[in-house]
Amino acid sequence: TAFIEFRDVWLAYSDALRAQNQFAVEAIDLQVPRGAFIAIVGPSGCGKSTFMKLTTGLRQPSMGKIRVAGQPVTGPLKISGMAFQAPSLLPWRSTLDNVLLPLEIVAPYRSQFRQKRKEFEERARALLHKVGLAGYEHKYPWQLSGGMQQRASICRALIHEPQMLLLDEPFGALDAFTREELWCTLRDLWTEQRFNVILVTHDLRESVFLADTVYVMSKSPGRFVAQKTIPLPRP
Ligand code: ADP
Ligand code: ADP
Repeated sequence: TAFIEFRDVWLAYSDALRAQNQFAVEAIDLQVPRGAFIAIVGPSGCGKSTFMKLTTGLRQPSMGKIRVAGQPVTGPLKISGMAFQAPSLLPWRSTLDNVLLPLEIVAPYRSQFRQKRKEFEERARALLHKVGLAGYEHKYPWQLSGGMQQRASICRALIHEPQMLLLDEPFGALDAFTREELWCTLRDLWTEQRFNVILVTHDLRESVFLADTVYVMSKSPGRFVAQKTIPLPRP
């Protein structure tokens, strides 16, 4: 069975828009196996963020059914981690404390945070080490380059060991060299831990380099118009 499953999903952002048949996404059908890495590409405004919001339960569909990990999605999902184009680290917190943040606020970790702080810190240090940020634990965001901040934000997205990682243009603001380095970092993390990844990107080369399957979304209405599974070996 699929890990992420959309059955004929439509979303209008308001009743008024729905009355005019103005859907942000429509007729979305999708089955993603557990552990898959998919990419969604398409022009601005085609519905990529809407798709992400539906997948994580931040929005409920106007019509259709969504299941993730065998469960209907009824509210914000705790099994997902997210990173965006802007790393948005809290400037008054060290790298380590930024990475720990989800464990301080997401149940069930929240209630254990004080007792398990040492263990959680070890986990954060191990992740930072994997992405090449060993030695930067106690630096503040302004002391890190853009690429390093983005690495930290990916660690923050993974610290609660989510089953699903959602990435919305995570490398868009980086130079080409840093971006390709981070592609490799991400691929290594994924190969090792096999969480599901949904990557939204404008960069076709990035989608082909990273994803198992690339979905192309068209604008008005937002629909999947093509799907391509990328064979190994990769470019
Ligand atoms: P993308 O992420 O591909 O740029 P979005 O999912 O943000 O596209 O937007 C899809 C469509 O839904 C666009 O027409 C956008 O203007 C509209 N939209 C997005 N968010 C809202 C909202 N909160 N209220 C009304 N319309 C929205
Ligand atoms: P939310 O789901 O909490 O409304 P969104 O990310 O959808 O958050 O949108 C953030 C803000 O931008 C909201 O105030 C939303 O209404 C507004 N917004 C985004 N896209 C559009 C749009 N196409 N038309 C109207 N408002 C939009």
